[in-house]
Amino acid sequence: PIAINSRTNNRSEHVHDVLMLVNDVSEWRRLERMRSEFVANVSHELKTPIAAIRGFAETLLDGDVDEAARTQFLGTIYEESLRMGNLVSDLLELSKLEATDSHVEPVSVDLAGVVAKALERIQRVAHDKGIAVVLEDVTDVKVWADSDMLLQVFLNLLTNAIHYSPAGGKITVTWDVLVDRVKVHVRDTGIGIPKESLNRVFERFYRVQKDRSRASGGTGLGLAIVKHIVTALGGEVGVESGEGEGSDFWFTLSRLDIHLPHKWHS
Ligand code: ADP
Repeated sequence: PIAINSRTNNRSEHVHDVLMLVNDVSEWRRLERMRSEFVANVSHELKTPIAAIRGFAETLLDGDVDEAARTQFLGTIYEESLRMGNLVSDLLELSKLEATDSHVEPVSVDLAGVVAKALERIQRVAHDKGIAVVLEDVTDVKVWADSDMLLQVFLNLLTNAIHYSPAGGKITVTWDVLVDRVKVHVRDTGIGIPKESLNRVFERFYRVQKDRSRASGGTGLGLAIVKHIVTALGGEVGVESGEGEGSDFWFTLSRLDIHLPHKWHS
């Protein structure tokens, strides 16, 4: 009986090992697939502006272009190069985040202070587009965060709110202080997001309207960066919207005066 038992144990251990291996292999395959999809996406995103820049530059070099067309082509070349620049910065931001994920060192951050900085940075663009940005009456609160990362979250959400709102729109930043968390909202009165796209907008390179995003210099990475940062800070992120209804992007952060999120306890 002893021999049989040990054989059975060996065998079940063996089966267990094989299953673990199969699991590892399929997880590895999944990651590998994600990685190659990502590389394919990045290549595609870079090829489009490069093709436009090359095409317009060739036409200009051929020389037979009147003044108005010349100005238009140079404008496009300039915009496409800006877009490529944005893409490269967003890619660097993402890879920096991936590298530092495990060692984010959150400290006490005054939420209103970060919002004030963000509003200052985007005020001119909003004003030029005829969009009002307001910070609603809110309670001062300290949160666990990294102020540069948090500033990036606000800048990405606010820039989107401006891009996807027509002139005359209004953007409101506000937050609710809950028992252990703060729920921050960035609301706009813009074009909104169709219900079927709501759970996809945080994916890398997902865009509802490719042309509109491209025209505004969008990279399709802004919300992926937002999600990455908020998750690294121990919070959650989401959006409520509908086509033509405006959007309400929200995220949570832990309150400093209440508790440490368990991931920072040790
Ligand atoms: P992009 O650079 O294209 O703006 P993001 O990752 O920031 O990339 O956003 C992904 C997509 O989500 C956008 O292309 C747009 O379709 C949609 N989106 C993001 N923010 C808003 C908003 N405030 N209102 C409407 N649509 C939005």
